[in-house]
Amino acid sequence: MTKKFSIIILCLALCMGVLLSSCRLNSSNLYETHEFLMGTVIIQKIYHKDADKIAKEVNDRIAGIESAMTINKSGGEINLLNDAAGKEYVKLGEDTLYVLNKAKQYGEISNGAFDVTIGPLVKSWGVFTDNPKVPSKSEIDELLKLVNYKDINIDFENSTAMLSKKGQIVDLGGIAKGFAGDAAIEIYKKYGVESALISLGGNILTLGGKPDGTPWSVGIRNPRGADGSYIGIVSVKDKAVVSSGDYERFFEKDGVRYHHILDPKTGYPANTGLIGTTIVSDYSIDADALSTTVFVLGLEEGMKLVESLEGVEAVFITEDKKIYVTDGLKDTFTFKDESKEFEYVEKR
Ligand code: ADP
Ligand code: MG
Repeated sequence: MTKKFSIIILCLALCMGVLLSSCRLNSSNLYETHEFLMGTVIIQKIYHKDADKIAKEVNDRIAGIESAMTINKSGGEINLLNDAAGKEYVKLGEDTLYVLNKAKQYGEISNGAFDVTIGPLVKSWGVFTDNPKVPSKSEIDELLKLVNYKDINIDFENSTAMLSKKGQIVDLGGIAKGFAGDAAIEIYKKYGVESALISLGGNILTLGGKPDGTPWSVGIRNPRGADGSYIGIVSVKDKAVVSSGDYERFFEKDGVRYHHILDPKTGYPANTGLIGTTIVSDYSIDADALSTTVFVLGLEEGMKLVESLEGVEAVFITEDKKIYVTDGLKDTFTFKDESKEFEYVEKR
C-alpha cells in the first residue's frame, strides 16, 4: 500500500508542478529585447502573445526613423535638407516634416533655448566624436550666426523644407528619440498590447500599467552616480519619462566638464546650475524636447515654462545636489537616494 500510495503522491506532485509552472508562464508572459539603435540600447518589455513579431516591427520602425533623421551617417532626409541649406527646398517624408515642425515650435515656446539649428556648433565641439575639442571663441561667435530656428522654412503643401542660410545644419538629436518612442507606442496599440515599456537611453515610455494593474516604477538616474543608481522613482501609467543631463555625453579638459547640451545664446555647454532634468508627459516627443529645453533654461525659468504647460511635469536636479519637482508630480515622485548626497526640496 505504501509503495502504491507514494507513486500516486509522486504523480500528483508532478502534475501540480507542471500546472504551477505553466501558470507562472502565463502570468508573466514577458518578452524582452535589446537592440542597439539611435546611438543607444533600445530595451522593449512587452506582455503579448505576439510580442516577438511586435518588437521586431518596432525595431524596424526605429531603424527607419534613425536613417531619415541622423546626421551621423550619410544619406537620410535631414542630410539632404542640410546639404541644400541656403540653396533650395527639398522633399521630406511625413515623419521628418512632423519632427522638424515640432522642433520649430519648441524653438518658439522656449524663445530659442531649444534650437535644432545648433548643428554647426555640435559638430565643432565634436562631443560625439573621438576627438572632442573646445572651439576658439571666434569660431563659436562665427558659428552662432548660423543658429536660428526661424530659418527653418516648411512648405506643408508641397512637403518640402529649406534652411535659409548656407552652412546651416539641423541636428534632431534632442527630439528624434522622443518621436521614435511615440512611434513604438503606436505599434503596440495597433496590436492591442495593454502593457509594455520601452527604453531608448534616457527616454522611457510606458503603455498601460504593469500586467497586475499597478503603475510602472521608472527610476530617475543619479547624475553623479554609476549607471543604475537612482535618486528617486516616478510611478506612472501611459506616460513618457524623459531625462537629459550633463552625464550622458561629456569630456573633460583642464578640470572642466564640457557636455553635449549647448546653450544657443552662448554656443557653450549650458551652464545654469542644473545637472539633470526629467520631464513626464503623455508623448515623448514633447518630453524629449522639453527635457533638453529646461536643462538650458535653468531651474527658475524651466520651472515656470513647465508649470505653464498642460499635462507636463518635471524633476530638476541642481549642481548643489538639490531636487525640485513640479506640484503635479509630488504624489507620483518618491525620493530614494542611496548615495545620501541629495536633498529633496519639497517647498520652494
Ligand atoms: P540625449 O540625446 O543624451 O538623450 P538630449 O535629448 O538632451 O540628450 O539631447 C541632446 C542632443 O540634442 C545633443 O546631443 C545635440 O545633438 C542636441 N542639442 C544640443 N543642444 C541643443 C539645444 N539647445 N537645442 C536643441 N538640441 C540641442
Ligand atoms: Mg531631449
